[in-house]
Amino acid sequence: MRTFELLVIGSGPAGIQAAASYAEAGGPGPVAIVSADVDEPYMRPPLSKDSLAGGPPVEPTPIGPAVPKDAELLLGRNVTAIDLEKRTVTAGDETLGFRRLVVATGAVPTPFPEADADAEIHLLRSLEDARCLTAAAKRSTSAVVIGSGFIGCEAAASLGSRGVDVTLVTPEDGPQTTRLGDHASRQITSWLTDLGVEIRTGVQVTHVDAPRTVHLDDGTTLAPDMILSAIGMQPAAGDLGDPAGLQTYDGRLVADERLSVAPGVWVAGDSARGLNVTAGRSLDVEHWGDALAMGDLVGRNAAATDGSGEETGDGWQPWSDVPGFFSEIGEHTLQYAAWGDGHERAEVVERTGGFTVWYADADDVVVGVLTYNADDDYERGSGLVAQKATLTEALSGARPDEDDPEGDSGDGDA
Ligand SMILES: Cc1cc2nc3c(=O)[nH]c(=O)nc-3n(C[C@H](O)[C@H](O)[C@H](O)COP(=O)(O)OP(=O)(O)OC[C@H]3O[C@@H](n4cnc5c(N)ncnc54)[C@H](O)[C@@H]3O)c2cc1C
Repeated sequence: MRTFELLVIGSGPAGIQAAASYAEAGGPGPVAIVSADVDEPYMRPPLSKDSLAGGPPVEPTPIGPAVPKDAELLLGRNVTAIDLEKRTVTAGDETLGFRRLVVATGAVPTPFPEADADAEIHLLRSLEDARCLTAAAKRSTSAVVIGSGFIGCEAAASLGSRGVDVTLVTPEDGPQTTRLGDHASRQITSWLTDLGVEIRTGVQVTHVDAPRTVHLDDGTTLAPDMILSAIGMQPAAGDLGDPAGLQTYDGRLVADERLSVAPGVWVAGDSARGLNVTAGRSLDVEHWGDALAMGDLVGRNAAATDGSGEETGDGWQPWSDVPGFFSEIGEHTLQYAAWGDGHERAEVVERTGGFTVWYADADDVVVGVLTYNADDDYERGSGLVAQKATLTEALSGARPDEDDPEGDSGDGDA
């Protein structure tokens, strides 16, 4: 049996960054990354954007951090079990030993539940999914997209801009209304309709018959050339974590503030439910940049400990970042920094050629900011969220306290 000083499960941004940061921080080798994915590590965000819109063919865009040169990349290997006592994982017919383990298994798309087994419904997560989806788009003049989350909206915009007649079906009152509020939803609606996307709001898909007949609960039926279901993601760590005796929540591994789940074992990215010390609570985050940031943190924390979890290096770091993401809907880019677990109030500020929405909780504390063509608001917004500024401060143009970039002097509930 081969035993690795660091074994990473998953070749997404969290896993690759964890291995890269571990090596950069001087963690000892050998290091291996084992992944179910068959492709070299690649960026996921372009998969719902350029290539689907008819841009360059679907090719793997390398992830920013490179795989460390001495690390082994074991692709096409599904890990089916973790044994914490023996310090091993089962990957196909091989058992791999580890001293430190990072779980970065990400998420998989939720399959559409009400459908014939042989209904032709695309999902979008992997490069292979994107190849199939783009090939279908080339053959199609009409499409139904189910779900108005970011992937649904981005994909609908991309298909619309390549000339496909798209119908976006959503139970929400408008795209993203629940998460982002009415103003942002109206903007997204106008961007989509400008690209010819028809949006059916307040309707549920009751069933999809094979091959591609979509029944809606308003009694209508659609028969497109292709269907994409984008109704959400399921974190992919529960099946590994539960049998191993790790604490899980909705398929995520529950981690402390150092993103550790057991001695010498960490989690990062979409599979993590970590304690964010700035928020003062556990957060679920499904964003590219945060997967990289969490990977960086666990890589460094792993390098600062021996295999039993005892500190050996410069000490560990807590997870403190305000989560944030970008989304491109056609030619329009939204930026969002927020704890991501809801808001009570939303205040809109119009900007030249753009807008900002400030989100606040019941105590008028800023919990998020969404910007469109308002980079200055985005830059100060993330700091104001961290510092738990009030909505009044945000609206008055306040800037975050430079000496307190992560809100360490906030209300101390971390
Ligand atoms: C189409 C699309 C567009 C997106 N656009 C944006 C965007 O614009 N902005 C943004 O912020 N975010 C975006 N995201 C979200 C972002 O891509 C994810 O948050 C990010 O990829 C999460 O990284 P991760 O490393 O946690 O997981 P993943 O990237 O999902 O990687 C998980 C890895 O683990 C592997 N794996 C899973 N289970 C096992 C197992 N049992 N054994 C071995 N390997 C396993 C998988 O094969 C994969 O390699 C997008 C996502 C998609 C799908």
